[in-house]
Amino acid sequence: MVGDVAPTLDTKSRAIWTEDGRIRALGGEDEIRRASPTGAEMVDLAGAVVMPGLIDSHAHLLQTGLGWSRVSLADARSIDDIVQAIAERVRATPDGDWIQCSSRWHETRLREGRLPTVEELDRAAPRHPVYLPRGGHVVVTNHIGLELAGITASDTDPEGGQFVRDGERKLTGMLLEAPAFRRLTRLLPQATEEDRQAALQEAGTAFSRSGITSVREPGLDVAGVKAYQTAVDRDHPIRTSLMWRVDLGQTDDERTEWLEQLGPAPGVQNDGWPEVWGLKITLDGGVEGGYFKEGYANDPQQHGFPLTSQESLNRFVQRAHTFGWRIGIHVVGDAAMDMALIAFEGAGPTEQVVRRGHVLEHAFVPPPGGIERTRRLGLGVTLQHALVYSLGGNMRTYWGEERAANCTPTREWVDSGVAVGAGTDTPVTDFDPWLNIFGFMTRETDVAGVLGPEHRITAAEALRMYTTGSAKILGAGNVVGSLEPGKLADFICLDRDPLSAAPDEVRATRVLRTVVGGRAVHSIG
Ligand SMILES: [Zn+2]
Repeated sequence: MVGDVAPTLDTKSRAIWTEDGRIRALGGEDEIRRASPTGAEMVDLAGAVVMPGLIDSHAHLLQTGLGWSRVSLADARSIDDIVQAIAERVRATPDGDWIQCSSRWHETRLREGRLPTVEELDRAAPRHPVYLPRGGHVVVTNHIGLELAGITASDTDPEGGQFVRDGERKLTGMLLEAPAFRRLTRLLPQATEEDRQAALQEAGTAFSRSGITSVREPGLDVAGVKAYQTAVDRDHPIRTSLMWRVDLGQTDDERTEWLEQLGPAPGVQNDGWPEVWGLKITLDGGVEGGYFKEGYANDPQQHGFPLTSQESLNRFVQRAHTFGWRIGIHVVGDAAMDMALIAFEGAGPTEQVVRRGHVLEHAFVPPPGGIERTRRLGLGVTLQHALVYSLGGNMRTYWGEERAANCTPTREWVDSGVAVGAGTDTPVTDFDPWLNIFGFMTRETDVAGVLGPEHRITAAEALRMYTTGSAKILGAGNVVGSLEPGKLADFICLDRDPLSAAPDEVRATRVLRTVVGGRAVHSIG
């Protein structure tokens, strides 16, 4: 292929020769023409800019695809819009069946700036139970939903969750964190294998159109892992690195038994996908439930909560580490990140922990010294400006100005020497990598203005996070992330050079062609 090739983002080349899914050589056009066999197909990219394929190091691709068949609230701008969208689905759904909404929307985009109430959902769906998630930590339901789940106003809150109530102690329909909404999710009709295959194909196609060639999937069950294995046999266009979801609802003993059944870690080979990367632990909540040392700005008594104790976490991390597993721990608040660091510090001999390459997911608010401890332990971190972009409004409300402005301190992370991967956490947010890169460059948010401009990074730094940085997180730096002879031929052809474009132009980047293993999985024009 002939174009403007930026193989490592720092060097330039004119042509790229691929063979058997790998890169054979890069060089000048004549040089490559001479070197490649006669009759080799030559694709002229007509001046397109060629870069390594993008790697989203924290993307729930399967859930993103499954979400697309649910009621979309992304365009809702008022509670009325939500009521109408649900009512429309109600009209096409037999009485009593669940109405499920997609989690990718946010109340800060509504005129009212709040979640709908149980009564408003009753108005939209008087004869159907409603499951309305927002992100991964909040669910709202109507009275039929509460009734089916057996949640009443006299119930005490489950450990690690909250049945949110109003001033008169009446249920609002909002259920905070998995322990609170597990009784509801248990009742939802399970996606079939057919649904999962359709979701993976649909989302995979959309991802490759945006320039993503690999993702790391944080948190799957048996059916999810199986679905990926099947999808790959059907030419799924995205390479995937999978993580088993660790269930913190289990007792220590149950979790140990689960780990023993799973057996020793498979060891990443990087020669076939999907690969099982490791385990995913969700240690605290999201914006409204993250575990902080200081109280919440809107409720100083509230610190959020960890979903397990320090002792249980230590025990599990140590055991899994001994079994050879890599572990990614979701941490939002500074207190949660501190817990995760303590667990990794005690997981085994430091050199061994460093070699393993465990990862912190999100790490929105590092405690003082936390970035340095992360570096010393050889941990990687996955950062998602996309989350700050869409949740910034609530970060301000719940965490206060200062914590919100300093969340996801990308500048510090990038300068620290820690392996930093870029991601979006779709379907909580949009998977669009160009919007995410724009956000990393500007610290712009959807409705909360610019948060912490001192944490801005350059386009080159953001693209490095999306390529070599994420590849390192995946433990696949030897095969993807840059274009070099012997590496996999995963690259994208763009209509502009984002390295020298202004943020708004970067955001509008069009991907003309996406190549995975030498095969064009997307091309236009
Ligand atoms: Zn996630």
